[in-house]
Amino acid sequence: MALAHERVFGQRSGARGEPAPYKAYIETYGCQMNFADSELVARILHSIGYGFTSQPEEADLVLLNTCAIREHAEEKIWQRLKYFHSLKRRRPHLVVGVLGCMAERLRQKLLAEAPVVDLIAGPDSYRHLPQLLRQVEGGHKAIHVLLSREETYADIAPLRVSPHKVNAYISIMRGCNNMCSFCIVPFTRGRERSRPWTTIVEEAKSLAEEGYKEIVLLGQNVDSYRDGAVDFAQLLARVAEAVPEVWIRFATSHPKDMRDEVLETIARYPNLTPYIHLPVQSGSDTVLARMNRGYTAQWYLQRIEAIRRYLPKAVISTDIIVGFCGETEEEFRETLALMEAVEFDAVYQFMYSERPGTLAARRYKDDVPPAEKKARLEQVIQLAQTLSLKRHRAQVGSVQEVLLERPARKNPADLAGRTFSGYPVVVRDAAEKYKLGTKIPVHVTSATPATLIGYVANDN
Ligand code: SF4
Repeated sequence: MALAHERVFGQRSGARGEPAPYKAYIETYGCQMNFADSELVARILHSIGYGFTSQPEEADLVLLNTCAIREHAEEKIWQRLKYFHSLKRRRPHLVVGVLGCMAERLRQKLLAEAPVVDLIAGPDSYRHLPQLLRQVEGGHKAIHVLLSREETYADIAPLRVSPHKVNAYISIMRGCNNMCSFCIVPFTRGRERSRPWTTIVEEAKSLAEEGYKEIVLLGQNVDSYRDGAVDFAQLLARVAEAVPEVWIRFATSHPKDMRDEVLETIARYPNLTPYIHLPVQSGSDTVLARMNRGYTAQWYLQRIEAIRRYLPKAVISTDIIVGFCGETEEEFRETLALMEAVEFDAVYQFMYSERPGTLAARRYKDDVPPAEKKARLEQVIQLAQTLSLKRHRAQVGSVQEVLLERPARKNPADLAGRTFSGYPVVVRDAAEKYKLGTKIPVHVTSATPATLIGYVANDN
């Protein structure tokens, strides 16, 4: 799953609108699942009277929702804990908690080396936060990291704070039963569990009533969604029918599990968007076997061919890891060749970073020198940009419906959004006339490797 940057939970008052007695600050790292989890945590805190602040300096409770997928993500948390240690000297009543994958993986180390940490809760432990906070109030360290085979938080409505009500995440499942050899997720998030489809449809309906324009269905491997009654293709159909005005996206698909029924369902419903994030990780069969991914390059290319057959306008993105254990120059070249064959619209690229406890750390040597990893990463970035630019340029001249999502980064007169198929777009001179959350036709006039650029069509 593509990584996002850290994000903080926004300002909010107390449970009934009055100033809240305690303020919580939540900082989130890692994947979209973690951002969705922070919204669950916020609901649990809100139900026991917490309000929220975007300033840790004025918080009574600081929670870091962490990621363990790469070493760099964990280093950042250790740095933040140093800062919160200094903050606690000034505000001795401050409670500091570590949540998420790093809490699950490094609980002993956190207890031993970060005395500032009062509370540690793994991804399946958020329901216990009220008791854990009481334990801390009583002067004890509180820790709960048991993984569950059942917990899906299906009965807890996430607390969303986006002022614009444009996009919302719904977690449809938790955990992962795959054992990709580089990945820590099965150890930190546990076995796969699917949420009952009825609760997902209900949540989608209430988001539509609140005015959300796009819903993203989230899971580590959505193609293996199964709640005992429906599979992923059937779930997509039921959500699409329940909220016909809302655009529906999903992430993440797994090449070995993605079935034609899912593609056929997307093609059938006008609100299921043809955006497919299909991580390939490597184009070499021998590397894929060491990664324990369960498919070959040829299989992956056949899946791409199926996507293009059912969904000719599909936008396809991927994840690639360079410098995995034992990756030779020839194996790396196979990845570049696969990228060219597919012509991805977007690539999220990473240098392999060994995670202790994973199958790869136990079986293989992390033996590609750092300088070589960096050089390979650079080549992937260059090729990805060339391919994105080619795909983006092919859109120039078209008129496409765009959902306006946020102010553009560079020019306050512009707004940024996405086409129905998932291309990012900067819409020139739209800020004055159009509200975020509006869907408008945009005439695409130019493109960069990162985005399409255009003007509102027929705008007088
Ligand atoms: S599918 Fe593989 S990479 Fe994705 S979460 Fe599961 S084990 Fe990790």
